[in-house]
Amino acid sequence: MMTKPITIRAVRTILTAPAGIDLAVVKVETSEPGLYGLGCATYTQRVLAVKSAVDDYLRPFALGKDVQAIEDLWQSANVSGYWRNGPVWNNALSGLDMALWDIKGKIAGLPLYQLLGGACRTGVAAYRHADGRDPIEVEDHVREFKDQGYRFIRCQLNGYGGAERRGPAPKGAPDGRYYDPDAYARSIPKLFDRLRSQLGFELELLHDVHERVAPIEAVRLAKALEPYRLFFLEDALAPEHLEYFSMIRTQSDCPLAMGELFNNPAEWQPLVTRRLIDFIRVHISQIGGISPARKLAVLSEAFGVRTAWHGPGDVSPVGHAANIHLDMAVPNFGVQEWSGMNDSLREVFPGSPEVEDGYLYPSPGPGLGVDLDEEKAKQYPCRLEAPQWTLARTVDGTAVRP
Ligand code: MG
Repeated sequence: MMTKPITIRAVRTILTAPAGIDLAVVKVETSEPGLYGLGCATYTQRVLAVKSAVDDYLRPFALGKDVQAIEDLWQSANVSGYWRNGPVWNNALSGLDMALWDIKGKIAGLPLYQLLGGACRTGVAAYRHADGRDPIEVEDHVREFKDQGYRFIRCQLNGYGGAERRGPAPKGAPDGRYYDPDAYARSIPKLFDRLRSQLGFELELLHDVHERVAPIEAVRLAKALEPYRLFFLEDALAPEHLEYFSMIRTQSDCPLAMGELFNNPAEWQPLVTRRLIDFIRVHISQIGGISPARKLAVLSEAFGVRTAWHGPGDVSPVGHAANIHLDMAVPNFGVQEWSGMNDSLREVFPGSPEVEDGYLYPSPGPGLGVDLDEEKAKQYPCRLEAPQWTLARTVDGTAVRP
């Protein structure tokens, strides 16, 4: 006997910044009193555009539809504007998609990872970011995280691209976040030489190039880092230069991670199926949510690629929970990036994931397990400021990718 479907009664975006980073969360309410879901739609640099995409376009599309038909809703909403695979609409779609998975979990009375096949592990290994002004300070920060129980640590020197500059910019050069790709590339093998000589090889160390070098320099850097046995080298290349991955692959055994800037399946499919990377690390809201991410995890499993979903501060606790539920359920999980959470975030988002001894745990509640206190969220309005860190320039003042 067919029961009457539960339908979507309301869809809206909630903006909040409890940690000083603008977050966008979509709340989907249903025809069932008290039954609602939350999804992360955080594209922090463009939160108002995402809010409009959700409230002005996705909301009228979704109202009245069956909350259980997640795949059909995702597929039809994805093409509803004809043009697709862009970051704004993908984040809007993610807000809806995650909220529907959250609702499905609540209907079933099960945490989301149970709906995805059940737990492959009881906790999720996380990595933290250790940065410093010099290798000694980086080492100190690595030891602090090690003492907290973390076994995976990303090591950076003076932020992305480093702070070292060989000489001034030309007269009249504009303001910006200047860096020197060559000085940066030469500094990184020295950093890892120090870390491995002092810390040994027990800890898993990672590094994020953040696409800050020319493609041929990325080849050279991957080769130079081989003796230090990185867990992975991240974003060695820009998404515009994916063909160079085959060049790195044939010349180096340094494990490669890629994907936080991806929006379109056409970007990751060749890297996975040609076995050119070891870790896929998309930003889940940026590709449209849990539905496309679980397919990507399955595709990656078939080709020996592990997951390492993007987990920076510009993901809401709802989005972090989505990462962690997927991590729990996929056999080919690698590691989870984790940026920590302050008390304000935990106050606004009750049920946020917990961390202990380097392992992340989802809330045991049904669905994603994270709630949103809308009154408290209002105490932390978004800043809506133009980002400065993206205004990257190299030595002579040329604007480059951040
Ligand atoms: Mg990164």
